[in-house]
Amino acid sequence: MVELKGVKKRFGDLEVLKGIDLRVDRGKIISIIGPSGSGKSTLLRSINNLEVIDEGQILLDGVQVNRPDLKGMAFERHINHIRQNMGMVFQHFNLFPHMSTLDNVTLAPRKLKGMETKSARELGMELLERVGLADKAQAYPSSLSGGQKQRVAIARALAMRPKVMLFDEATSALDPELVEEVNQVMKGLAEEHMTMLIVTHEMGFARDVSDWAMFMDGGVVVEANTPDHLFSHPDQERTQHFLRKHL
Ligand code: ATP
Ligand code: MG
Repeated sequence: MVELKGVKKRFGDLEVLKGIDLRVDRGKIISIIGPSGSGKSTLLRSINNLEVIDEGQILLDGVQVNRPDLKGMAFERHINHIRQNMGMVFQHFNLFPHMSTLDNVTLAPRKLKGMETKSARELGMELLERVGLADKAQAYPSSLSGGQKQRVAIARALAMRPKVMLFDEATSALDPELVEEVNQVMKGLAEEHMTMLIVTHEMGFARDVSDWAMFMDGGVVVEANTPDHLFSHPDQERTQHFLRKHL
C-alpha cells in the first residue's frame, strides 16, 4: 500500500536519505526509530511530497507519489489528490487559532471535497467523539491542553478519510501526563486497522502498537524487524547501542 524504492534525498551536499526501501501493507503499522538527524522526518515528509525526493520511487496503492515528470498545475493537482489520501500529524499541532475545534476538523472536507455544512458537521462531531473531545467542539485551540490539541489535530487529519496516517513525534512536545491520552487515540486507530507510519521516541509504545519496526541511522535503514525482535535482541551493533541509551 505504501512502498518506497531506493528513495534518496539530499539537501545541498548532505545526503539525508541514502536509498530507503520500505513497504507498509494495508492495515499495518510501522514504527520508525533512530537518533536525531537520522532522516526520519525527511522520510515522512517525502512520503507526502512535502519534500521532493531526488531519486527512487514512492507509491501509494500502486500510484506513484513523486512525479518528476509533472510540472506546474499538473503537479499541484496530482499532489493535492495524493495528500487527500494521507493524514499527517506533527509534533506541533498547527491548529488554526481563530477557528473552533469543529471548524478545524471540517475545514478540509468542506474546502477540498465541497462537503455540505451539515454533513461536514456530522463527520466532524463523529471524529471529535472518536478522539474524546465532542464536548470541545465549540472551544478554540487556545483553551485546550496540548494533549487535547493533538487529539484535534488527529481528528482533523482523519477528516479526509485518508488511506494512511503519518505521525511525526506526535507526543514528544507534550507534558508526560498528556502523552497517554494521545497514545490511546493512536492505539484506537491501530485497532481499526488504519495504516500508519509512526516516528517516535517512545520505544514502549512503538513496541506495543506496531507490526514492524525500523531503525534508521545516517539516512539508511540499519535494521527492520518485528518489534519483539528489534527491541529485544537487535542484530546490529548500532541498533543495540541506540536502544541501550533509550530503553
Ligand atoms: P529528529 O529526531 O531530531 O527529529 P530526524 O531523524 O527527523 O531528527 P531530519 O529532520 O529528517 O532528522 O533531518 C535529517 C538531516 O537533514 C539533518 O541533518 C537535518 O539537519 C537535515 N535537514 C532536514 N531538513 C533540512 C532542510 N530543509 N534543509 C537542509 N537540511 C535539512
Ligand atoms: Mg524529526
